[in-house]
Amino acid sequence: MRRPLVAGNWKMNGSLESIKSLLDGVKAGMSDVKQAEVAVCAPAIYLPAVQQQLQGSDIAWGGQDVSAEASGAYTGEISTSMLKEFGCKYAIVGHSERRAYHAESDDTVARKYAAARAAGLIPILCVGETLEEREKGITESVVARQMDALINLEGVAALADGVIAYEPVWAIGTGMTASPEQAQEVHAFIRGRVAALDAGVAEGLRILYGGSMKPGNAQELIAKPDIDGGLIGGAALDAGDFLGICTAAN
Ligand code: 13P
Repeated sequence: MRRPLVAGNWKMNGSLESIKSLLDGVKAGMSDVKQAEVAVCAPAIYLPAVQQQLQGSDIAWGGQDVSAEASGAYTGEISTSMLKEFGCKYAIVGHSERRAYHAESDDTVARKYAAARAAGLIPILCVGETLEEREKGITESVVARQMDALINLEGVAALADGVIAYEPVWAIGTGMTASPEQAQEVHAFIRGRVAALDAGVAEGLRILYGGSMKPGNAQELIAKPDIDGGLIGGAALDAGDFLGICTAAN
């Protein structure tokens, strides 16, 4: 049985003040969350504050990105050991916004996943197609290419230590959620591709859905057999909405 994971990706939002009240709100509602593991991925500069507020709670935290390099002349980058030092459990890698705005290749993303894994972080590998790719009918080959970069680099065993988030780019921040059937179809494809290499890894792998997930649609998405939780953008910035998604997995 896979335990669902609901992870907030705050992206470049928040302030010390707003994060404090958001986390106070989420902490206050955690007693209603029966099943899901809950995590928040904060802007790196707020991780010390997040750590201070969440230490000892049931909520885990993580980074939104991480460098593939261990240390050195990489201005602006954050290393895996830095995330570890501030108690991070998770690190998102390959978010479509990083791929699109920072030109991250499948290869770079795979190297980031490998570095996070080696450091004992749980990488959350984001995959997903653009609207153009969906309309061309190449969703599966795009997702396969994104997964295979990691599998070719590290072997399928790497996925035993991580999480995949399927985030169709056209559904992110647009209010255009994938239907539960559309999402399930791709999730099943992802799990099937892993299963062809290692059935045990596939069975244990958590595959999250991301893209305009809200309290109103979370339950029917998470009810699908291959959807094991969510990676939440906008709705993770409101304690009530975020908790509404966390409890949808109850
Ligand atoms: P939204 O929930 O705002 O669509 O964002 C999803 C996302 O990109 C999470 O990583």
